[in-house]
Amino acid sequence: MSGSVDFEAMLAVAIEEAREGISEGGIPIGAALFDMEGKVLGRGHNRRVQEGDPSVHGETDAFRKAGRQRSYRDKIMVTTLAPCWYCSGLVRQFNIGTVVVGESVTFQGGIEWLRGLGVKVVDLNSKECITMLTEFIESYPAVWNEDIGEE
Ligand SMILES: [Zn+2]
Repeated sequence: MSGSVDFEAMLAVAIEEAREGISEGGIPIGAALFDMEGKVLGRGHNRRVQEGDPSVHGETDAFRKAGRQRSYRDKIMVTTLAPCWYCSGLVRQFNIGTVVVGESVTFQGGIEWLRGLGVKVVDLNSKECITMLTEFIESYPAVWNEDIGEE
């Protein structure tokens, strides 16, 4: 991978999306899909609450907004939180080569599974991401449990 790729700068885009989610009354998880040069192809955030649609996760939103790409092997999915099984499945299905996560403390999702499949997973262990989501979960535990498929 090129040394010019700045994962922290990419994460800042995903965090911006997550904060937009909070401002809309939604769940603070944001994501963006980048190419290897660090160009944003698509960005988005979880809109389960805003749209009443449980399929709009940060990753799927960013993925859809990026439109059709010839290959995903050389793309980078950046998300504020480790991807859930649904979004890990998306990464697997389209062979996205690299996943950068803001944190995996609050939720581990499928990152070990993805690593086992040969996906490059970078965990930035961002305090900002941990704090943002932890505060949300403490305030809205029911919304959070619904999002991760827990009863
Ligand atoms: Zn997801």
